[in-house]
Amino acid sequence: MSDEKTTVAELRRAVAEFVAAREWEPFHTAKNLSMSIAIEAAELMEHFQWLTPEETEAALEDAATRAQIADELADVVIYCLSMSNACGIDVSAEVSGKLARNEARFPVEQFHGRFRRPERDKRETTAKDAKGGDRLGCISEARATEIVRKPELR
Ligand SMILES: [Mg+2]
Repeated sequence: MSDEKTTVAELRRAVAEFVAAREWEPFHTAKNLSMSIAIEAAELMEHFQWLTPEETEAALEDAATRAQIADELADVVIYCLSMSNACGIDVSAEVSGKLARNEARFPVEQFHGRFRRPERDKRETTAKDAKGGDRLGCISEARATEIVRKPELR
């Protein structure tokens, strides 16, 4: 199977057959599956926790680590597909609908190369204090990384 040759319906059917063969349908409820998605997402995030951007790139280039990351991503997707089966949600319709709504929310002319509205970027820059924090007491990712790397800064 590959993304180029596999439909979402085929993947949903494969997951449904796996679940049915074990008579796991009673356990695959919306509550349990939504929690399972979050749990598997956390397992995926664990591979990147505390890594610098450079270390993240290196992790993805390491064959063994990449395989573990792909395995966790598969867990997330499998639970998502099982949830769509359990709830009767058409994944393709929902994803394409959400993308269309996001097209309206994030017009290319305003968000090309940025993930925040230009006016919000300006406001956050002026709110930063000399320590690299902002009015909410949050610190930048760069500052947090520096603190993690240098215990004497804690
Ligand atoms: Mg897992």
